[in-house]
This record gives sequence, structure tokens and C-alpha cells, in this order.
Amino acid sequence: MGSRADLARMYALLDGHFGALHWWPAEEPFEVAVGAILTQNTAWTNVEKAIAALKAKGLLAPEALFRIDTQQLAGVIRPAGYFNVKAERLQSFVRFLREGYGGDMERMAAEPLPVLRDKLLGVRGIGPETADSILLYACGKPTFVCDAYTRRILLRHGMIGDHADYRLIQEMFMRDLAPDVALFNQFHALIVNTGKAFCRTAPNCAPCPLRELGAVRGRRPGQRRDSR
Ligand code: SF4
Repeated sequence: MGSRADLARMYALLDGHFGALHWWPAEEPFEVAVGAILTQNTAWTNVEKAIAALKAKGLLAPEALFRIDTQQLAGVIRPAGYFNVKAERLQSFVRFLREGYGGDMERMAAEPLPVLRDKLLGVRGIGPETADSILLYACGKPTFVCDAYTRRILLRHGMIGDHADYRLIQEMFMRDLAPDVALFNQFHALIVNTGKAFCRTAPNCAPCPLRELGAVRGRRPGQRRDSR
């Protein structure tokens, strides 16, 4: 298991390399929540197209998303992939927002973190990563977002074991770091950038700022495998 010093070193290396990333790329909290649902199992470039289409049709608002026919909505968000499922998930979320908080993201964000997290996890189609993205980036709550890149990077550097699940990984960050929204925001953004730029299925360690952490599992830092 990684130590507090490992995470601090990791943050320093990544922050020094990438600088401030100013996440999440959205204009307002509701757009963050919509993006968090649309980004499930797809690249962000596809999400951007779907959000642009929603904006162009005046649909990026809770009431508009609630009123539109599900099939029509699926057609609009088609670029995001899994559009039928995601249309249902978006409407489940806006139903939750409407029924619990009158469609008001600020009212929703006024809930205490553990209460709101439990409620979000009860919404159909919202899992831990989506819930935590909404909580951190749309509501400004200090919860750490863990994604597939987080797991892969920690695993490759021997900071977690093979069977570490979302909860265990999140506990590690939240136990070892101060509950600071700005820090959690930037740290997750740095990890995603690292995953996209270097720590892909075939890791490209030579130019990666985390090569200094050493001990890349199964291979030496600096050695590049062929892509598969
Ligand atoms: S050094 Fe290699 S294994 Fe470590 S994060 Fe970078 S690309 Fe991934």
C-alpha cells in the first residue's frame, strides 16, 4: 500500500509537469453533472460533442432534460455513445434533482457530503466515480475521484494490490491527504492527464514525470512495450 509520502511525491511530480489544470471543463455545475454521466465509458471529446448538441437545442437545463422524450434525447446525445442508456441515466438524475431539490444544484450541494453521496449512489446509473465527480466538481465537496487511470498508475507502481477496489483506493487518498477541494480537484485532473498522455495500455515511461517513483511493475521505467 502506498504511503502518504508516495502520494505527496506523486502530486509534486505531476503538478510540476502539468501545472494548474483548472478542471472540470464546464461552464456551470449542472453541465458538470451532465458531463459526469455522459463521460461513462467514452472519451471526453465525444462528451463535448454531445454537450454542444444539448446546448444548441436549449436542452442543457434540468427542466428541459426532464420534459424531453427519452428517445429524442438519445438522438441528441448520440455522439457520447451508449446513448439510450445515457439518456435514461440523465433523466433519472434530473428527476432526482427535481424531486429532491426543485431542480436547483445549489440546494442539492447544501446537503452534507455523506448524505448526498448515499443519495446519488441510489440514482439509477450513478456509480461511485460519477457520484464523486458530481460531488467534487459540481458541488465543491472534498471527496476524491478515482478512475481507471488512478488504479492503473497505483498498481504499476506497487502502491496498491491487484484486488484493491474503488473504496480502498479512495480511502487511501482521503486518509493521507487533507480534505481540500482544490487539492482533490487538481490531483484527479493530473492523474487523468498522466493516464492519457503516458500511462496507457502500453505505458510510455521514458517521458513520464512519474518514472521517478521507480518500480514499475513487470518492467523497467523507460522501457516502452509494443501496443496491443
Ligand atoms: S512511469 Fe510508466 S507506469 Fe508510471 S505512470 Fe508513467 S507511464 Fe505509467
